[in-house]
Amino acid sequence: MTLTLADVRLSYPDGDSRTVVLDRIGLVVPPGELLAVTGPSGSGKSSLLAVAGALVTPEAGTVTVDGVPLGGLRPAERDRLRRSRIGFVFQQSNLLASHTALDQLMLIAHINGAPGRAAAERARRLLARVGLADKAHRRPHQLSGGERQRVGVARALMGDPAVLLVDEPTSALDHDRGTAIVELLRDVTHEHRVATVLVTHDTQYLPLADRALRMCDGRLVDHAAA
Ligand code: ADP
Ligand code: MG
Repeated sequence: MTLTLADVRLSYPDGDSRTVVLDRIGLVVPPGELLAVTGPSGSGKSSLLAVAGALVTPEAGTVTVDGVPLGGLRPAERDRLRRSRIGFVFQQSNLLASHTALDQLMLIAHINGAPGRAAAERARRLLARVGLADKAHRRPHQLSGGERQRVGVARALMGDPAVLLVDEPTSALDHDRGTAIVELLRDVTHEHRVATVLVTHDTQYLPLADRALRMCDGRLVDHAAA
């Protein structure tokens, strides 16, 4: 199983006490599954992704990515694992204003130390896959919001991740473009056999996912429940 969380707990200081944000979370996401996680604002969805993506260390419990328990890793090893095995897509596409779509992807290849011809071909193939073959040389301001998110999806796949973590990718998009992005995420999840967690407060996209869970008081529950 590509991504597993077992008994994960996270809390933040809140005045004199602490607020529990993740309460004994258990989760298994197999390769090729698009899991949607919904829940109201503040319910801990982004915190869940931060822990799954080795950006935040939980107080208790274990997170395993691609067979590797994160808890046993030194910080540099954890950074390497994150760069090589985990792709992120955020609410804002976080593209560099001065770089073309192709450059955004090649930057990942540079960071991973393999910026050669094969990487350039992969970047072009991924941009074509997300429907941007003819816009590879555009900068972010020359792309629509939906197109920028598509670049973000292609960029997240550039390093050939095992896990894809996606935080509210549709919040700045209208319904049709939002649907297209979630469909794209589902299709690339199946094609690339990645374990994808898609966080969204928007329940209209749930039918497009392979499975849906809900954050409720720090717990992950079945969507039908509560
Ligand atoms: P969501 O993504 O579902 O909106 P978050 O995971 O961002 O929820 O936040 C869950 C709760 O944790 C919120 O109450 C938020 O204010 C709090 N929180 C998030 N990050 C921090 C932090 N770094 N320090 C303190 N509290 C935080
Ligand atoms: Mg959030």
